[in-house]
This record gives sequence, structure tokens and C-alpha cells, in this order.
Amino acid sequence: MSDQPVTTGEELAETAASGHDQPVAGASDELAQGIIETRNMDVYYGDFKAVSDINLNFQTNEISALIGPSGCGKSTVLRSLNRMNDLIPTARTEGEVVYHGENIYASGVDPVEIRRRLGMVFQKPNPFPKSIYDNIAWGVKINGFKGSKQDMDDVVEQALGQAALWDEVKDKLGESGLSLSGGQQQRLCIARAVATQPDVVLMDEPCSALDPIATLRIEELMLELKKDYSIIIVTHNMQQAARVSDRTAFFNVELDSRGMRTGYLVEYSPTDLLFTKPREQQTEDYITGRFG
Ligand code: ADP
Repeated sequence: MSDQPVTTGEELAETAASGHDQPVAGASDELAQGIIETRNMDVYYGDFKAVSDINLNFQTNEISALIGPSGCGKSTVLRSLNRMNDLIPTARTEGEVVYHGENIYASGVDPVEIRRRLGMVFQKPNPFPKSIYDNIAWGVKINGFKGSKQDMDDVVEQALGQAALWDEVKDKLGESGLSLSGGQQQRLCIARAVATQPDVVLMDEPCSALDPIATLRIEELMLELKKDYSIIIVTHNMQQAARVSDRTAFFNVELDSRGMRTGYLVEYSPTDLLFTKPREQQTEDYITGRFG
């Protein structure tokens, strides 16, 4: 954790507790039927097992954070949730990822449709080298949009509004998305992700390339977006997990029989509990900075 100030467990606990005025539904071990659930999921790259036996039940309209030391498999797990790992030739997922009652890895499931319904925002803002307008309109069009120009204008305005960017760009929609600041580019990518009406937004360290003010705006935006979407975020920043998430999954790594480092889930708990009364000693050691 070289890029974050040393924080005590007490400070993290305070942050986690102050960020949430609503009790988290299903704060006990009994979780409701989630929006997406991994069951005994293993992910391999070639014959290397990167993560083992992951069971996670992500809840609707919550922000879930995935935390843990570098290489424990957070991004791998995130990418498995919308079949983004399929784009890595050596990657293979075993077990199930159940979304709306269906295993997304079953034969006949269209990964493109899965990726539309579980949109993704990446670490580095990656707008298309197109106008701000077309950054939104393009993905909507290729997803079969049949409306009028006015309808598309409405879709673009709504998406940019949801991403808290409309007021800043409404007078320059024809300018390149790449002309925006880093934080604005990331909000443009969020607008692009929500424009195709997903119900889950996956975010892979979305603030790690941003300054603290742009980071804060994205965090505020996430809290707004969770009213309409379920959000799953990978973050290497424990304060960020404590500030924004309802529930946190902590991963760690262990050596397998061949001496390879395989990631596994240690615990998945309501965030305020994870930072105040972690169930596992490993979690406590991690959040108090004893390793990682
Ligand atoms: P984290 O996000 O927690 O840092 P990752 O999911 O990126 O962890 O990586 C988990 C493990 O999988 C690491 O050992 C990493 O080296 C390996 N890995 C990640 N991506 C690939 C890939 N495309 N090919 C081979 N190994 C990979």
C-alpha cells in the first residue's frame, strides 16, 4: 500500500461506519438472492489457477468492494463476472456465475449481451477517439437502438446526466472525448457504460489514475448510481472501500502444491463489520497494515 497514508484500523472503522446511515440488508450471513452470484468458481490462466473456490453473492443496489493484496485475483474475479476474461486466450472459468438465475458460462449464452448488462469501467479512462456525443451514441447504436435522432439526443443527455457530466459538456458535445480532463474522461466512460442500460456496473480501480478531487467526484457519483445499479468495485485503497461500499470481500493468496500463488476469498461482510469486527484474523492483519 505504498500510495496510501498509513491508517489505523480504528480510522477505517470510523470511515466505514460514518459512510452508511442505512443498515445493510442481510447484514447477517443470510444474504438475499443477489443480482449475481459466483458458485465454487475457479479461474485459470493456462494451467495456473489464479483464484480458487470463490463463492460471492452480490446484492442488488449495493456497492461491493473487492480488496486484498496485489495479485490475489481481484481483477480476475471482476472480469469473470461479465465474461471479460474470455478475451484473454488462456483464461478459463470453472464453477458457475449465476445472473438472473442463469449460469453466464452455460453454452448458448451470448457474452456480448452479458457485457451489455454488466458494464465495465476500467482503471485508466479509455474514451473512444470520437466526439463526446459519439462516445455515448456508438455503443447504444451497436446494441440495436432504433429510435430517432431526438431519441438518441435524449439517451446521450440522460447518460451524461447520470454520470454527473452533462452540465460540464452540454455545450461541447462535438468535441473529442479525449479533450476532457482525466476525471471527466472517467465520468464519460461511466456514462458510456450506463447508456446501454446495464443493471450491474463493474469498476476496476476506477480512481487509481485520478487526483483526489476527481476521485471524490467519482465516489459521490457511485453513491448516486447505486440507487439504479448494483456496483462492484476493485480497489487497492482500503479507505475508498470503507467510504463507499456497503459490503466488502477480502481476498488473500496462498501457495498451491506447485508453489504457485492462488487467490482465495477470506471473508465477505458488511463493510462496517469488516473494518470493526472482522471474522478472520487474516482480515484484521490486513486492515491494520500488518501485511499487503
Ligand atoms: P489483483 O487484481 O488482485 O492484483 P489479478 O487478478 O490481476 O490480481 O491477478 C491474479 C493472478 O493472476 C496474478 O498471479 C496474476 O499474475 C495472474 N494473471 C492476471 N492476468 C493474467 C493473464 N492475462 N495471464 C496470466 N496470468 C494472469
